[in-house]
Formats: sequence, structure tokens, C-alpha cells
Amino acid sequence: RAAFASLKNELPVTKDGHRVTVMVNAGLRDDVAALDLTGADGIGLFRTEFQFLVSSTLPARDRQQRLYRDVLDAAGERPVIFRTVDIGGDKALPYLSKEDAEEENPAMGWRALRLALGRPGLMKVQARALLEAGAGRTLNVMFPMVSEPWEFDEARALFEAQREWLVSRGKKQPTAIRYGAMLEVPALAEQLDLLLPRLDFLSIGTNDLTQFLFAADRANPKLAERYDWLSVSILRFLRRLVAPTREAGVQLAVCGEMGGRPLEALALIGLGIDRLSITPAAVGPIKAMVRSLDHAALVAKMRDLLDAPPRDMRGALTEWATAQGV
Ligand code: PEP
Ligand code: MG
Repeated sequence: RAAFASLKNELPVTKDGHRVTVMVNAGLRDDVAALDLTGADGIGLFRTEFQFLVSSTLPARDRQQRLYRDVLDAAGERPVIFRTVDIGGDKALPYLSKEDAEEENPAMGWRALRLALGRPGLMKVQARALLEAGAGRTLNVMFPMVSEPWEFDEARALFEAQREWLVSRGKKQPTAIRYGAMLEVPALAEQLDLLLPRLDFLSIGTNDLTQFLFAADRANPKLAERYDWLSVSILRFLRRLVAPTREAGVQLAVCGEMGGRPLEALALIGLGIDRLSITPAAVGPIKAMVRSLDHAALVAKMRDLLDAPPRDMRGALTEWATAQGV
């Protein structure tokens, strides 16, 4: 642990000079302290729903704004990506109507951007709070559970309408707004080419993506061990996203738990995914792993492994990493 803490001033750069961006996931004001403790590059996922979940009523705009401004102030020069509310489904709020809360399959239900677009009043309040908090700086906004490009377009249009309202009132607004989508619904991958020209960044939510790819509830312990993040299906699925996003000049990241596990992160970097947003406790171990890597050798190894997959991908990667001294 002490060894990892000492890495806070070391950059995640491979032995052959390839820079990886390591950010943290956060959801509370106090989580921002993790930036200084770990030396992470920013907050790659700020889960704004936490404030909604701990509140007994819908948080008012000024309360939302205060939280977002505090987070931006504490982060300073480091970027913060705010994800709009991912509530509904299993994160049901008592103060939302019952009709929104009762579902057979909440994970696949009326949640996240679906709920937000269905209740535009809620999303408008959040948009105003974020735009006001981001006045005079760059604001990064990310939409969860985008399944179709039009959902992203509608969400973005809602933000832009709020921005215009601020302009028309002569109020200060962000110097720039960067819009991103989460890729956690597999269907979006098939239309990515249509969406990429309108995106600034794409962040893969491997927690939900895995449960939807394998049709396996992420909260069911009986299934937890059955489907490996290092399965050929997941790795090949992720590999397909890399070249198109790079060609479109869109930043690609992983913000699910997968990126915080050293062997999984190694595989992601080998696929060409160079931005990870992870739980703060994982930053030290991931930095240490990155600093022991030969990036060129890893990329070649991943290509071979995915072209002709071994029966035991985890075993093969472990063996390779050990032989490389990772
Ligand atoms: C994910 O689904 O991978 C993700 C990062 O979002 P959450 O865990 O909040 O659903
Ligand atoms: Mg998710």
C-alpha cells in the first residue's frame, strides 16, 4: 500500500513511453480528495445520482449547482466528467412516482437517460445547474445508457436550449461544453459511426455492458463468476470500438470496474484503450502495472490472442504478463 502511495507523483507511462490516462470515479464532494491522494488525471465519471439518492426530495437547482461547483473548484485544472442522472430501475427514488418505480426488469427499464428524457423537467434543472456551475470553464457532460443516437441528440439539444437561455439573459456560461455518451447498451455499437461525428468523447460502462452482452444480471452473485471480463466476446466487442473512435478523433475511455483490475486493464491497454476511469483505491496498482509494461509487445500479444483465442484467456494473459515481468 505504501509502495502504491509513493506512486502518486509518478505518471502512468509504459517502459516504451506510452502515456495512459488514469482517472477516478466519484460521486460525492469528498471523493474529489482522491485526486490529490492518488495523483489521478481527473474524474472520468462523476455519478450525479448520488446526491439524488441520499436526498429525501428532488435536490433543488441551487443545491445541485453548489455540489457541481465545489467539485470543479476542488478539481482545479483537472477535468471532471459529469454524468447526468442514472436513476430509476434499481436506483429507484421514493419521491418519483410509483408508476416509474415498479418494473419486472429494472436494469433494462425506465432508467438513466430514458427516464431523464421522459421527465424533461428534471433534466432541465440538472442542465441549468451544470451550466451555471461550469461558467467560465470547460464543462464535460456525459449521458448514461444511450441506446440510439437520437437519444443523445435530444439530450444535447436540451442542454443547448438551456445554454441559449443563459445567453439570452446575459448570464455567464461555460467557455466550452464537451458532450459524451456512455456505451453500455450493445446496440449503440452498431450505430456508432452515425453518432461519432457528434461526440466529443465516448466512455464504455463495462458494468452494464457486460450484463447486457451476456444477459447476466450484474447484481446476481450466482452469475458473478460465470462470465469473465477477459472473455473473448467482451474483448472482441471492445476491440471493434477502437479504430472508428480514433479515426473520428473521439476520446475513448472505460469507466466500469473492469478498468480497475490490473490484468483487465492490461488487456484494455493492449486493445488500444488508453483512458481508464477507476475506483481510487485501484489507481496505485494500475499505475504500477502500466509502468512495468512494454506497450508495443502488449499490443502485438493482444492481437495474436484475439485472432486465435486460447481456451483460457485469463491464464494466457497471466502467463504472458509474468514472463514479461509485469
Ligand atoms: C457501468 O455501467 O459500467 C458504469 C460505469 O456505470 P454504473 O456502474 O454507474 O452503472
Ligand atoms: Mg452503467
